[in-house]
Amino acid sequence: MKIVIIGAGPAGVSVAETVRSVERQAELVMLSAEPFPPYSPPAMADHFITGSDTHLWRGVDWPKRTGVAYRKRVQVVAIEPEAHRLRLANGKTLKYDRLVIATGSRLYAPLKGVDRPGVYNFKSLSAAEALVKEIKKGKARTALIVGAGFIGMEIALLLRELGVEVTQIEMLDQVMAGMLDADTAAIALNLMLERGVDVRLKTKAIAFTSRERATGVKLESGQTLKADVLIAATGVKPNLDFLEGSGIAHRWGITVDDHLRTNAPDVYAAGDVAETRDRLTGETYVHAIFPNAVEQGRVAGLNLLGHDVTYEGADRMNSLKHLGLPIMAVGLKQGDEVLQSRRNGSLRTLYLQENHLAGFQLVGDIRAAGVLRALLNARRDLRPIKHHLLDPNFGEGMLIWNAVAS
Ligand SMILES: Cc1cc2nc3c(=O)[nH]c(=O)nc-3n(C[C@H](O)[C@H](O)[C@H](O)COP(=O)(O)OP(=O)(O)OC[C@H]3O[C@@H](n4cnc5c(N)ncnc54)[C@H](O)[C@@H]3O)c2cc1C
Repeated sequence: MKIVIIGAGPAGVSVAETVRSVERQAELVMLSAEPFPPYSPPAMADHFITGSDTHLWRGVDWPKRTGVAYRKRVQVVAIEPEAHRLRLANGKTLKYDRLVIATGSRLYAPLKGVDRPGVYNFKSLSAAEALVKEIKKGKARTALIVGAGFIGMEIALLLRELGVEVTQIEMLDQVMAGMLDADTAAIALNLMLERGVDVRLKTKAIAFTSRERATGVKLESGQTLKADVLIAATGVKPNLDFLEGSGIAHRWGITVDDHLRTNAPDVYAAGDVAETRDRLTGETYVHAIFPNAVEQGRVAGLNLLGHDVTYEGADRMNSLKHLGLPIMAVGLKQGDEVLQSRRNGSLRTLYLQENHLAGFQLVGDIRAAGVLRALLNARRDLRPIKHHLLDPNFGEGMLIWNAVAS
């Protein structure tokens, strides 16, 4: 059986490793539009700061060790499901018996002028290399980042490490609004300001201004901000242009069932490109985080081999490691009851819905994260242990035992 995987991110790698762990004979072909070995986007910033190769998380010899025919710089431009065939940008075609679309996501920036030279992003290693090359030429002293979401914050910290003066604008009234509640976001904002990032909230960009090369950002207020380097970090969007004419159903992401099958025979989708069910709410949307991509790759890999594995649903979760204080956000950031404690610079906020944990945010002391996540996923009625949940030692040995037993 010939299995073709489009994309060499965490989802694609997970598909290949899963297949190989149960099926030694299958022919595995992986296509990547980029010129690199498989890499981990969360480790890119570290790579540019320390020069380490931890972003090449599986090692450069991974394709050989795993028995994968790895083809770099190969872009898929169309899928012909009836013929079980792909069309490639180099004019060639490629047949498959099973196909996994794991093409991830790219920058989403609904701003005029974003395609102009001089506007950078950090969504792929190719894009990140172009940005860092520009900075390292030595002429860039100032940078302006549009967007203070998760990726924007990561870019800001990287650029500070590289000695650049950073201004970051955000249209909302808090940073990382998709992930953090207002209290946790206020702490994250202060940590960014302490790092010397000039974060400006409630500041909306409407266009990158340019003749040929972008030189500034026009704000809704009418003002224009200038900087040596301009960066868009306004969101991400699934890579699915090549679906046109294929009949493969998609909305924002590719539509999949609970086995991660698309509506085309023998075609699966996993990772940032797929629209999957939320474990907690049951809603379908794109849950663009690393652990979801890996788990979806595993489920797709098993199902395409004929196993019968139901995807349990995507998690909402993220953590910030580079701010000096660990921050973790899991699940929803609202509920009918909120429990909160502040202690020695740590903040713990729990969101309960009808006495069940719906989400939590931890700043500083994140030791309870594992146990809280288990309680959230188990949908346990927390009434018997509610009074322990804010205990600083909750989650450690006996206390858990006592809490659960009481
Ligand atoms: C800077 C940054 C930091 C992040 N930090 C975190 C974090 O701390 N924690 C976390 O959980 N998540 C984080 N994420 C998100 C996480 O990296 C993604 O959820 C994950 O990489 C998704 O994996 P994927 O395999 O679906 O897609 P990707 O990793 O996007 O890989 C898709 C691959 O497909 C290739 N491709 C696309 N189109 C084609 C085509 N037509 N033909 C051939 N190849 C194609 C692309 O070039 C790419 O290499 C971060 C992301 C970024 C950008």
